[in-house]
Amino acid sequence: MSECYIQCDDHLPVKCDDCDWTGTAGQTDMVSDIQERLTPGGVVPAGQCPECGALAYLIEDKGGAPTPADPGGDDGVGGTAREAILEMAREQHDSVEIGRNAEISMGDENGAYVSAWVWVDFSDTALDKRTAVVQEAA
Ligand SMILES: [Zn+2]
Repeated sequence: MSECYIQCDDHLPVKCDDCDWTGTAGQTDMVSDIQERLTPGGVVPAGQCPECGALAYLIEDKGGAPTPADPGGDDGVGGTAREAILEMAREQHDSVEIGRNAEISMGDENGAYVSAWVWVDFSDTALDKRTAVVQEAA
């Protein structure tokens, strides 16, 4: 059991993350076992709710603000790694289209899967757009 008092202005409005309690930072309790309750990149609580013991956060910091360290994609691969992987994919597969938001799947092997578009040529098929245009015009 360890306790931690987080430095912030006592008059700032805070809200409990669990119950409906609201008050000021100065009214919150010290946070118990804070190292087990914080997540990297998460919002640091102002203190602990005196009513229920859940974490209480500064109202202005909760909601609305973008989540810090957004990975940049649903696949969880972000930042420079993402850019590097997409660039390698384009170099290694110059006949496919790879979008900026291509999905990346990191496997156990020495590489990654990247979703890509492949070109389908309609020339001289029933779907040939040039032929279709000619037929419409005729
Ligand atoms: Zn509460």
